[in-house]
Amino acid sequence: MKKFLAILIAFTLILSLASCTAKPSETSKPLVYASFYPIYDLTSKIAGDKLTVKNIIPFNESPHGWEPSAKEMTEIAKAKAVIYLGMTMEDPWINKVKEAAPNTEFFEVSKGIEPIKKGNAINPHPWLSPKEALIIIKNIKDALVDIDPSNKDYFEKNYQNLKSEIENLDKQYREELSKTRLKTVVLFHSAFAYVARDYGLKQEPLVGMSAEAEPSPARISELVDLIKKEGIKYVFVEGMAPAKPMETIAKESGAQIMRISTIGTLSKEDMERNADFISLMKENLEKLKKGLE
Ligand SMILES: [Zn+2]
Repeated sequence: MKKFLAILIAFTLILSLASCTAKPSETSKPLVYASFYPIYDLTSKIAGDKLTVKNIIPFNESPHGWEPSAKEMTEIAKAKAVIYLGMTMEDPWINKVKEAAPNTEFFEVSKGIEPIKKGNAINPHPWLSPKEALIIIKNIKDALVDIDPSNKDYFEKNYQNLKSEIENLDKQYREELSKTRLKTVVLFHSAFAYVARDYGLKQEPLVGMSAEAEPSPARISELVDLIKKEGIKYVFVEGMAPAKPMETIAKESGAQIMRISTIGTLSKEDMERNADFISLMKENLEKLKKGLE
């Protein structure tokens, strides 16, 4: 009996030790990577505390022209899934990551958006339009349910809350932008193409779809003429776009500069004041209203 008791005590000790090391940790949640800030923020809002969501393109870096290092590729390959926009935004690197991560699932969340094209090139900025953001969050929610079906109801609830916030934005954009005196948005690169299409504005970018492009002197003088002709009061400088050429246009046309966010990344200042996708979308609407009144 004594021997049996000793064995029982030893066994209980082993069991309790084992349970100490087997406590649930952060790493037990599925890891999901989102390609860049707007996708990251929207994914995080739907995932809540059920998934570990990480951002691929670092904060304060333009999503145009970014590429992952070998180390970053190895990290991404550990994820259960990668959620990315598509529409050519991640084209310089997404296929390399797919090859390096054969066990990771990839979800393209711009599916169902009617693309705006110039020739064969697709404009990759749909998230700035609330109407298109609604399609993106539906795709993100479906992806998360696919990744972790056991939390379907939880994701569904977070999605419904986010959806009503963005539906509100859509309503405000529609009502407010229909009332502006001016309709032409002059800016550096064509980030507001979907906003223009969806809410009845016209966009006049200095360069094309990538903020990396070089402006031409001919286009600068064309825009100066347009600003004078239409009586435009503000030119927009978006996100990480260079201010210099827009300052030249402003100076030559008599217009003022208005800073606006592409929400393509978060600046240090955005982070310090706890800005997020929704708050930046609201600020953009206020800036568009002021710039076009
Ligand atoms: Zn851009």
